[in-house]
Amino acid sequence: MNAMDNGPNSPKLETGAHPFAGTPCDRLRAVRARIARAAAEAGRDAATVRLLAVSKTFAAAAVRAMAACGQHEFGENYLQEALEKQIALSDLPLQWHFIGPIQSNKTRAIAGNFSWVHGVDRLKIADRLSAQRPAGWPPLQVCIEVNVSGETSKGGMTVAELPALAEAVSKLPGLRLRGLMAIPAPATGMAAQRAAFRRVREAYDALIACGHALDTLSMGMSADLEAAVLEGATIVRIGTALFGER
Ligand SMILES: *Cc1c(COP(=O)(O)O)cnc(C)c1O
Repeated sequence: MNAMDNGPNSPKLETGAHPFAGTPCDRLRAVRARIARAAAEAGRDAATVRLLAVSKTFAAAAVRAMAACGQHEFGENYLQEALEKQIALSDLPLQWHFIGPIQSNKTRAIAGNFSWVHGVDRLKIADRLSAQRPAGWPPLQVCIEVNVSGETSKGGMTVAELPALAEAVSKLPGLRLRGLMAIPAPATGMAAQRAAFRRVREAYDALIACGHALDTLSMGMSADLEAAVLEGATIVRIGTALFGER
């Protein structure tokens, strides 16, 4: 039994990936229903949770099909692949988020082709994105990536390093700091998933308490979006549940 089978008054949301089936529009509806159910359990308005469809490794045609179902925000990890899809889909009113690791030789193309960047994890990258944002464009919307799992192999700032980076990023003219992004280590069970997301939210709340005007917590993927929404996610980044296994 998965969360979709629970009665409307089910006290607990189950966690874990859900069966992949149906048309693109069916899958989009199913993900939106998961978000709505988790938001309801959290006592939140579902409209406060944005769905970012993560289309990495899937062809432009798959993005086009999802766009025809009403999804307009897409996340991509690989620059070259993303640029090719953007060209193929330039007739559609899509908003593109870069969510992958950022190499410094890619910042100019990222600053010139995306609305959002989720994985800012060092000042050098932020400086370059700001300086290379084309003149006259609105600032690039950015999240700082925080690592709450202590995996040194993974990107992201430690919580201790965050205040200094947030302070510096918030002063860059080409960027607008919107909040934090996290990819916690995979955890089994709602309690463990929520504990990691809670650490992200606490770091976010601490930055707000320091005076940063933040509104974005980018956290939660196909396997753990419920836990993320319960801990305050405002953007969930969903690939597999929308497009299938990669
Ligand atoms: C691939 C990816 C996702 C989507 O993951 P799924 O488990 O397929 O939903 C979300 N965020 C980031 C940063 C990713 O790289």
